[in-house]
Parts: sequence; C-alpha cells; structure tokens
Amino acid sequence: MLKIDSHTHIIPKKMPNWTEKFGYGDFIYLQHHTQGAAKMMRGNQFFREIKENAWNAELRIKEYEKFNTQVQVVCTIPVMFSYWAKPQDCLTLSQFLNDHIAKLVAKYPKNYIGLGTVPMQEAELAVKELERLKKIGVLGIQIGSNINDENLNEEKFMPVYQACEKLGLAILVHPWNMMGQKKMQRYWLPWLVGMPAETSRAICSMIFGGVFEKYPKLRVMFAHAGGSFLPTIGRIAHGFECRPDLVAVDNNVDPRKYIGQFWVDSVTHDSLMLEYVLKLQGSKRVMLGSDYPFPLGDLEIGAFIEKMDLPKQTQEDIFYRAALEWLNLNEENFTDQEKKQ
Ligand SMILES: [Zn+2]
Repeated sequence: MLKIDSHTHIIPKKMPNWTEKFGYGDFIYLQHHTQGAAKMMRGNQFFREIKENAWNAELRIKEYEKFNTQVQVVCTIPVMFSYWAKPQDCLTLSQFLNDHIAKLVAKYPKNYIGLGTVPMQEAELAVKELERLKKIGVLGIQIGSNINDENLNEEKFMPVYQACEKLGLAILVHPWNMMGQKKMQRYWLPWLVGMPAETSRAICSMIFGGVFEKYPKLRVMFAHAGGSFLPTIGRIAHGFECRPDLVAVDNNVDPRKYIGQFWVDSVTHDSLMLEYVLKLQGSKRVMLGSDYPFPLGDLEIGAFIEKMDLPKQTQEDIFYRAALEWLNLNEENFTDQEKKQ
C-alpha cells in the first residue's frame, strides 16, 4: 500500500550565517561539530542537536522505507520561520530554504513532496513568493500557529489565504512561538502543553474569524491531529452556543460545521485518541504524519495505525488518499515506481 508521510521536517546541510549576512538577530545556523550530527545554534545559544537524517535525503529514504513509507511531505523546521526578522531578509532566507526543497523534489519526485515557507509578516512579499513556489513545483506552505503573536484571522493575512486558494496551494499550520513559553520552561512544557494549545488557537482563530467562510476552497492541514481542538470541541461548541456575544462576533456558523472540512495528521501516539479523531473528522480528513526526524514524532511512521485493525478502506484513506486530496495530487504520481519494484 502506498504510504505518504504528510508531516516531516528537513533543513539544508549548509546555510549562510544569516546573522552575519544581515547584521542583526538570532538566526539559526548549523555547527557541524562532528560526523553525522550538527548543533542548531540560535545566535550564540545552543538550540538543539540534529542528526544527519535532518538533511541527508538518501539516508531519510532508507530510514522511512523500513516503515513501508514511500513518500515524505517535507517542510522546514518551524524555528526557521523567522517572522520576527525584517521582511526582506525573511524573504531571502525563505527563498534559500524553498529552493533547497524545490531541488530535492525535482531530484526525487517519487519520494518527496515539498512545502515552502514565506514571510508571513509582510503579506505582499509572501504572495510574491507563493507565486514563485507554484512555478518551481512546491505544492504548498507551512505557516506558524501565530505570526509574531498575532492570530491567523488578522486581516493582514487574508491576501496569503486568497493567493493560496487561487494558486491551489495547500497549507500546513504548525505550532510555533508557543504561548506561555517563558512561564513554563521546565518539563518540556512548551512542546507538551503549549503546542497542542497553539494548534487549537490557530483552528479557533481561523473558524471564528471566518477564514474558511471567505476562502472555502482553501486546503488546510493542522499538525498533531489538530492539537487540543478536537479533544475540547464540546467546550468550544458550547461556548459558541452560550456566549455568542463573545464567540460568534465575526462568524455565526457553528464551529462543528468545519470539522471534516480541514485535514489533520495522525500524530497522536495513542490509538484510542486516533479512533476519536477519525470518528469526528472522517478518514478522508486524517492523514499519516510522523513529525520525522524529531524525537517527539511517530518515528515508526504509523505502525500503531497498522495494529489498530481498521477497515482496509480507512487505512488507505489515512495512508495516502487523504494526503493526495489535500495536496491535489493523483495516486499515479507515485505508483509507477511501485510497479517497477
Ligand atoms: Zn512538526
């Protein structure tokens, strides 16, 4: 069975030292201190260590083939978004990352699908880059769950959604710049508590701000099974019912209506939770995701889903059909190689 992993991250092995190049800021650079691993440095601060599978395309293919996966959707690591930078510099950085992804996809069209990054802090530049992405074979973008602490329903972001809808580009909303991060440094809480909350914040902002009403053809996927949105939908819908004066001020459509309109990935690490997500979303709106190559990801790439004893149709939806629809691709784009094997 074709398996497309819809949520993975990649970074070029070599990048300019952006801080030196632009003369300010704590941009990320890679310190290749040893064979097969590199330190991601944020300015002079150590951010995290990554391994060779964060940049080596062929090593990645070997690794994910072990889990019967044939295709990865790749996008940058959210710390690279750099929405805080001067817009033009963020564009330069984004274009570097996007060109790297476009080259990768051109070289391995059966194994990689690319998502780009754009300077969301300046919609006009972002739209220009979206038009360029369309031309270089990148099928969508990854954006943060907030943009410099501003929610995704802000008017200034509408040109980006409009352009994505018009160009037919998919969107992955990924939690980053987590709320409350400074107040909860211990126990990895920004990742364990902040990220699921961020994703719910993004979904609620887009629903209540009427983004899906304005751009009904927009194809949006939310990471980590939509974070805490689906598990707290009862509360959210009840809030909409009991306090429309607070909640339904910009859009009077029941939030439950949007469930199954957007996509989510399967990164739950819990079969009971995935069953619940499937019940709400329907299998055509839940797709295999791993968050490879990071430790909080499902690095056995859906092995727990295979053990769930789901009907074949449901499994096929999760493993590839939902992703193909999200990306507006056909199965034939990938099956030639399967026949040869
Ligand atoms: Zn991720």
